[in-house]
Amino acid sequence: MNGAPTLPDAIRAADALDPLRHLRDQFVLPDGMIYLDGNSLGALPRATAARVAAAITDEWGRGLITSWNAHDWIGAPQRIGAKIAGLIGAGPREVVVADSTSVNLFKLLAAACRHQRGRNKILSEPGNFPTDLYVAQGVERLLPECRLETVPVERLAAAIDEDTAVVLLTHVHYKTGRRLDMAAITAAAHARGALVLWDLSHSVGAIEIDLNGCDADLAVGCGYKYLNGGPGAPAFLFVAERLQGVLRSPLSGWMGHARPFDFVDGYEAAPGIDRFLCGTPPILAMAALESGVDLIAGVDRAAITAKAAALSDLFLREVEPLCATHGFTLVTPRRFAERGSHVSLAHDHAYGICQALIARGVIGDFRAPDMVRFGFTPLYTSFADVWRAVAILGAVMASRAWDDPRYQVRERVT
Ligand SMILES: *Cc1c(COP(=O)(O)O)cnc(C)c1O
Repeated sequence: MNGAPTLPDAIRAADALDPLRHLRDQFVLPDGMIYLDGNSLGALPRATAARVAAAITDEWGRGLITSWNAHDWIGAPQRIGAKIAGLIGAGPREVVVADSTSVNLFKLLAAACRHQRGRNKILSEPGNFPTDLYVAQGVERLLPECRLETVPVERLAAAIDEDTAVVLLTHVHYKTGRRLDMAAITAAAHARGALVLWDLSHSVGAIEIDLNGCDADLAVGCGYKYLNGGPGAPAFLFVAERLQGVLRSPLSGWMGHARPFDFVDGYEAAPGIDRFLCGTPPILAMAALESGVDLIAGVDRAAITAKAAALSDLFLREVEPLCATHGFTLVTPRRFAERGSHVSLAHDHAYGICQALIARGVIGDFRAPDMVRFGFTPLYTSFADVWRAVAILGAVMASRAWDDPRYQVRERVT
């Protein structure tokens, strides 16, 4: 391995003993690449290409319109939703796959605000994922009595009051990696009559989530991160059974109708979770998503969480000396109970460092203004990956490899 440092025996042993080690072969991972960005775009499962090809060639090509019934295309939102429900502590009729995370946020946030008439505040935190705040601002413009207020999470529970309609939070923060206490925040909101809408994009598929155990109201999440559903994969939404009959989607499309194939003029919301569907499901994208979800749905949830903890703990332990010598600040909480499966380091030269790492086959990502983010996907990241990534980071810092004009050029997607 021309000059690369030798892998310590303890790291080799950790991989040999990893109960999830066989899953790595279920993914296409390019040779020579250490992929630490599965929290942004999950890797391609080996089964997906054939699955999508079959959906195109057999189901679409040969089955044509009969496939809506023959291959249960029409049931895809509920079928895949039920599989995701098993990962997040929800009932099988509480989750559907549809639209994007942004659109699902809009549907549930607007529905919650309308339901909570008389309460006018949407409460979130500054620095929440941009789309969450932008969607809330859109709802604010649409419903004149609604206003968005952002309060730092340390003061958030105290800010929930009689005027709060809904609290909008991301379970694991996309930048800092900080995990919020879902049960405690949900209970604090309920005590004051508010609902909570959780964005699970950075936690689903990485750590255990127990929506019903926390008495959660509403949630959305992403299909292309830890669920490995492919770029732009459809997203999912959760509505607790007790709320399904009283919330109304603002996007009252025909797939959310009680009897879409009656083709009547008047809209009548479907009785259950189906009312949060809008238009025709994107079947080819659904096929790719289902392949990713099937892979993870068969894996023990506790083992996934345990590996997320072990990988990120190893990274923290190895990277700590670099923080002291090379000016990194650890942004992510150290205790696993307070974080998800990615770790962020702040540095003045974060952009160049990230580019230098990419040039050396370590794919993390840069988050403006000054963070390098490393995601550890329990299904396919190995302990050797983590150890080697830190060794390469150390070499980049020691040689000041980041200080190269080529690494300062910013592309459209960073
Ligand atoms: C990735 C992510 C999204 C993605 O939203 P899209 O509509 O798929 O672009 C939303 N919220 C959070 C917190 C995310 O991390």
